[in-house]
Amino acid sequence: MTDYQAPVRQMRFTIDHLADFPAVAALPDFSAVDGDTIEAVLGEAAKFAGSVLAPINWLGDQQGVKVVDDAVQVPREFADAYKQFCEAGWPGIASNPEFGGQGMPKTVSLACDEMWAAANVAFALCPELSQGAILAMDRHATDELKQTYLDKLVSGQWAGTMCLTEPQAGSDLAALTSKAEPRGDHYLVSGSKIYITWGDHPMAENIIHLVLARLPDAPPGIKGISLFVVPKYRLNADGTPGEFNDVIPVSVEHKMGIHASPTCVLAFGGKGGAVGYLVGKPNEGLAAMFTMMNYMRLGVGAQGVGLADRSYQKSVAYARDRVQGRAPGEKGRVAIIRHPDVRRMLLLMRSLTQASRAICYYTASCLDRAAHGTDAESVGHWQARADLMTPIAKAWCTEAAQEATELGVQVHGGMGYVEETGVAQFYRDARIASIYEGTNGIQAIDLVGRKLLRDGGATVAAFVSDMRGVDAPLANAGEGFATLRRAMARALDELVQCSTYLLTAEKKDPELVSAAAFDYMMLIGTVIGGWQLARGALVATEQLAAGGDKAFLQAQVVMAQFYGEHVLPRCTGYAAGVQAGSASTMALAAENF
Ligand SMILES: Cc1cc2nc3c(=O)[nH]c(=O)nc-3n(C[C@H](O)[C@H](O)[C@H](O)COP(=O)(O)OP(=O)(O)OC[C@H]3O[C@@H](n4cnc5c(N)ncnc54)[C@H](O)[C@@H]3O)c2cc1C
Repeated sequence: MTDYQAPVRQMRFTIDHLADFPAVAALPDFSAVDGDTIEAVLGEAAKFAGSVLAPINWLGDQQGVKVVDDAVQVPREFADAYKQFCEAGWPGIASNPEFGGQGMPKTVSLACDEMWAAANVAFALCPELSQGAILAMDRHATDELKQTYLDKLVSGQWAGTMCLTEPQAGSDLAALTSKAEPRGDHYLVSGSKIYITWGDHPMAENIIHLVLARLPDAPPGIKGISLFVVPKYRLNADGTPGEFNDVIPVSVEHKMGIHASPTCVLAFGGKGGAVGYLVGKPNEGLAAMFTMMNYMRLGVGAQGVGLADRSYQKSVAYARDRVQGRAPGEKGRVAIIRHPDVRRMLLLMRSLTQASRAICYYTASCLDRAAHGTDAESVGHWQARADLMTPIAKAWCTEAAQEATELGVQVHGGMGYVEETGVAQFYRDARIASIYEGTNGIQAIDLVGRKLLRDGGATVAAFVSDMRGVDAPLANAGEGFATLRRAMARALDELVQCSTYLLTAEKKDPELVSAAAFDYMMLIGTVIGGWQLARGALVATEQLAAGGDKAFLQAQVVMAQFYGEHVLPRCTGYAAGVQAGSASTMALAAENF
């Protein structure tokens, strides 16, 4: 399947106008990143995604991976592609220049992540996890550990993993039992980790596992978890990989999708202990690991965008080609793209995908402004907004991806259910995105519990006030925007009502946060998506008046209008769900289900 064309024009429009790129470019660290640089990066990434990664996506799905003699084997084509990926310098595009990275803003590099995921999400997970490991080590490891590991991870010579989950500790990491015993300058790590993505493979010379484990005297619960770096091969005195470090891939899971990504059960220390080194402070490992987890959460949102877009592209091509039925005012049988119901599905896919893209890129822009800002007040503001946006980017965008990739199957009719067309793979591959990196239910609870309630609703209120800023320009933009304007105003009112409701009712109803969180997450994500599409439509209207590219710009306007008519009204349902409280949800006794 070599049919992926990265939507570079749409990505560039989103970066420039919806992720506020001028504000990112104004930061001293990014003064060298101009429009030409972005164009060149996106252009080269699009070529790589389309010509190297997309053609092996189906092959990876069909061949999968296996464990032979305590080692994971992956398709040879994946190892070749990884080599090319590293030679082209893609692993380090957003990493710290001190360790050989190119220091690109996340606002730009996330578009590349979207392309890798669209082209071949199973492959993309490998460099994505390395990036998360690099970031966590860069923020929390000692200088010595950084000097030892980071340049090799940044170049892609070594790859990283994230080892949290254990059989009894999934969403609830407080239950994890892996151990780390101090031995002089290092620790001996032992325990069993499950579901470790790219936990073993031959594509990189060494694999650097970031592992959560407990010290002997650690308190119970999450306050007793520490973070360790555990290499697959111990290092020789000259820093090259040496002796095997007692981390064995016991098996790989047989999964619904992402077949070419090895999801490993890893046994640490079964033969005496795997040598590891502490990252950050003892018992504060979870906070350090959150650097990696938050990075990955945005990356998972971008995976959803990529898969939704790929499914949309394939569906449009099919709908133009497949002849079936008749349409009013046309002679003979027509291509199915003429049928209003098929157009409904395609526009829903396209507008949900673009809303998700704008949410993810905007989150990246908030992160860039927080991490590279120069005054404390602005750093605090953008960090709070990035913290609010992260669970929304992860959960709302991956829910949208479920809907879009499912619609992709539907547009194809029976052929969508047949594996050879490829569209079923996008649906299967997208399904995991709402489960890993913290399920979407857990993201929603984090959103309400930590991002709404903890500051008394201040961060959400500030964002609502910014979003109300589209009302006046929509009013001035003419009658064509009247429905969108009304739908936005109503959805924002519903968001305010629900926020106020949760802030007051939560004190009386201990079940409320968990019962209402998912609807609240869907509500706020749908509103932010509408705000972003409305902003895009306003920019497009201005550019149309100035004689810009009609087909592209009109599509921005139509997507926003369609979303205002068909998606924003969903907010009324979500708001009713939030304000219904927890009573009926909790009414049945567990044994009555
Ligand atoms: C393909 C794949 C790749 C993965 N990659 C990695 C990896 O690289 N590293 C890693 O460490 N882990 C990885 N994971 C693990 C993944 O992050 C977990 O599966 C996920 O966090 C959910 O944990 P669980 O499977 O134990 O489900 P559970 O925690 O058992 O959850 C089951 C259900 O109960 C809900 N639930 C649980 N607790 C609560 C609560 N307190 N409140 C409300 N609802 C709750 C959940 O939302 C979910 O719907 C991967 C998993 C898969 C399938």
